[in-house]
Amino acid sequence: MAKVLCVLYPDPVDGYPPVLARDGLPKLERYPNGQTLPTPAAIDFTPGELLGCVSGELGLRRFLEDAGHTFVVTSDKEGPDSEFERELPDADVVISQPFWPAYLTPERLEKAAKLQLAITAGIGSDHVDLATAIEKGITVAEVTYSNSIAVAEHTVMQVLALVRDYLPQVGIVVDGGWNIADAVQRSYDLEGMDVGVLAAGRIGRAVLERLAPFGVTLHYTDRFRLPDDVEQSLGLTFHESIEELVREIDVLTVHAPLTDETRGILNDELLGTMRRGSYIVNPARGAIADRDAIVRALESGQLAGYAGDVWYPQPAPADHPWRTMPHHGMTPHTSGTSLPSQAKYAAGTREILEAFFAGRPLRDEYTIVAGGAYAGTGARSYAKPS
Ligand code: NDP
Repeated sequence: MAKVLCVLYPDPVDGYPPVLARDGLPKLERYPNGQTLPTPAAIDFTPGELLGCVSGELGLRRFLEDAGHTFVVTSDKEGPDSEFERELPDADVVISQPFWPAYLTPERLEKAAKLQLAITAGIGSDHVDLATAIEKGITVAEVTYSNSIAVAEHTVMQVLALVRDYLPQVGIVVDGGWNIADAVQRSYDLEGMDVGVLAAGRIGRAVLERLAPFGVTLHYTDRFRLPDDVEQSLGLTFHESIEELVREIDVLTVHAPLTDETRGILNDELLGTMRRGSYIVNPARGAIADRDAIVRALESGQLAGYAGDVWYPQPAPADHPWRTMPHHGMTPHTSGTSLPSQAKYAAGTREILEAFFAGRPLRDEYTIVAGGAYAGTGARSYAKPS
């Protein structure tokens, strides 16, 4: 029997379960590219419940305990005295969400002598040291597509919020004010702007499709070009590199995985080549940006706004400069953990566990690392191009 160690974010401060704002979720048939939604044999939760926190347990406890497995759920994940690190040495499976990542560093993977499977309940497995996972033959899987549309919607929301300067206007109302000149002095229209996307994968492409009707000119860069018909229908201009892209745009949105190639690419030098008053929305990974370069660019006016919701490390310390930098619209890594996203990645996690316990191969699209190499989605999105 296996020991499954699951790290989830803490419960709501007012207790669990919360009163839900809506009854149920819309029913979806499949993902936009035709991929089927998660197909576990059964689920023990009602879609729409808060599943991603400790008491939500991703709806997995009955399934795991009925089969005789041990299931440990904790939010205590930092440092050698954390419950996560105490429970890790004899865990067979680790589950963690990118929103509250249990960092599986080389040192921790060394201690995890029995670990066979690391599941990302969501998308983005950069909190796992993939090179060490490859070396040690640990399988890494994520629930591909589970929250891609949620992140794309969040991106569009943040683009509009920055360009129109929405959040300060709400602040004026909440504070009892009504100075319209104050409220509009940084407020622009998206219409007519050049918008560029770094990485047109599932999220990036969904962002392009959602922004097309706003009357913008769309640009993108990626390692591989999209099919001609997609480029034509969305009116896309392809750029060979991020350096070429950023010179031609007013708004950049970032949707590449965090890899050695993408770490820190939003640095002083690159930001200095953008049009003055550009906006960046980066819901991919915080470490794709140079933290202090973003602050400097906002303070100097080179950037007119920065938003996103992924930080490094997470949770962000109270004195993280992105909390207080001017003209930002940062959220606490929420874009991919809306209630519908949770229902999808909880079901996908169960599907992965069912396959693992039955000795069946995982779905190709869920696989990042397997058999000592990048595989499936991992081979396409994380591995360096050969
Ligand atoms: P996909 O794998 O569908 O897309 C990633 C894209 O990035 C692919 O098109 C890939 O190119 C491209 N890419 C990889 N490396 C580079 C590079 N060096 N330069 C340019 N393009 C590159 O992933 P998703 O769209 O589903 O997710 C993207 C990222 O978003 C995730 O890795 C994750 O970090 C983040 N994310 C954030 C969430 C949140 O809650 N904030 C939730 C979900 C994801 P190709 O395939 O052509 O090689």
